Amino acid sequence: MPADQFRSGFVSIIGRPNVGKSTLLNRIIGEKIVITSDKPQTTRNRIKGIHNIPGGQIIFIDTPGIHRATSMLNRFMVEEAVAASSDVDVILCLVEGGGEAGGQEDLVLDLLAEVKTPVLLVINKVDRVPKEGLLKAIDRYAKRYPFMEIIPVSALTGDGVERIVPAVCRYLPEGPRYFPDEILTDLPERFLVAEIVREKVFRLTRDEIPYSVAVEVESFKERPDGSLISIAAVINVERESQKGIVIGKKGEMLKKIGMQARRDIEQLLAVKVFLELFVRVRREWSENPKMMKELGYE
Ligand code: GDP
Ligand code: MG
Repeated sequence: MPADQFRSGFVSIIGRPNVGKSTLLNRIIGEKIVITSDKPQTTRNRIKGIHNIPGGQIIFIDTPGIHRATSMLNRFMVEEAVAASSDVDVILCLVEGGGEAGGQEDLVLDLLAEVKTPVLLVINKVDRVPKEGLLKAIDRYAKRYPFMEIIPVSALTGDGVERIVPAVCRYLPEGPRYFPDEILTDLPERFLVAEIVREKVFRLTRDEIPYSVAVEVESFKERPDGSLISIAAVINVERESQKGIVIGKKGEMLKKIGMQARRDIEQLLAVKVFLELFVRVRREWSENPKMMKELGYE
């Protein structure tokens, strides 16, 4: 890329839930700002990770994935994904090496047929696919859609991931440095804190708590000398029974969630953190547009 020409742009990573979008983004950005989980749909918001390179800046958007809308929350997710893929400069379409180009994968490819943005296909999880299968998959995808490039990777092991940024750069337009170099994400710290707490709830309660958990940071106070940040956050659940699970026997679960979240937040903010967590029952917020808006899902 010529030195006199700064390139920048927005890149969305799309693909069905669980295909490895968050893992890939984490690997590229190199900091833990995106939730990964072995459960689908834990990434609900458009999280932007920023990757600076000499002469360029890539702003990644992690979309929640495209799947059939069965509840209002899901419809909202689909709209988000469509919107995200139509106003970006490059789309990374993520699929699984071993997956079939049918069902949900077809939904994604159908969506792409409607956008004019350059699309790069990233075939993930190649650590689980024999070489022959991979070659067949590449062939099949190449016939199905005019991808600008096809890049096999393993987001988990990092194999092939280094080819993604240079490939993206080939399709970035000339543009400004949107964010200062030292900024990794333009998301407010409060939001990141809420995401970390939400991740811990998912991880620690496993299958017992549905995706409809929302975390609100009610207060975020920094000591004037910068030595400590006190945070109070509320974990919103839909039912009393879920509240019981999140709190746990003698408060053990909530304590564990709080401890693990605090550790990650301290790492993220590079400062000592005092974290207080509360659990509140808010009925069916995922079906209520006003409440969703209040909780930040716009
Ligand atoms: P997302 O829903 O698309 O954001 O998917 P995640 O990034 O949350 O990943 C879903 C699951 O797939 C997690 O358990 C990851 O560890 C796993 N995963 C992601 N990338 C790879 C990969 O390259 N190889 C293997 N074997 N597993 C992966
Ligand atoms: Mg994700």
